[in-house]
Amino acid sequence: MSEIEKAIEELKDKNKSLRCLQYAWGEREIKRNELAISALEKQIPKKIVKNCNGKILHCPSWDEDLMGCIYSDYADGVSYCPYCGQAIDWDSEVLND
Ligand SMILES: [Zn+2]
Repeated sequence: MSEIEKAIEELKDKNKSLRCLQYAWGEREIKRNELAISALEKQIPKKIVKNCNGKILHCPSWDEDLMGCIYSDYADGVSYCPYCGQAIDWDSEVLND
């Protein structure tokens, strides 16, 4: 388990404890921790998603409301999604069509 994964586990454990306590101040801390968890999770590379015979690449954290397409010409040397900051694993492609 990497340092990032350990930090995510710590924050998730902390949120479990805070939810059990049910203090009003705990909600704000839970939200802060959730924000940190989501930022940390983006640092863990996810496999790129290919569509349309490999011509269109999607961010692995693709969300149709927020994301556009990333074209293969654009891909070289980019290791983070320019839209959401998700770290991308270019070597492991998932074909989706
Ligand atoms: Zn993205």
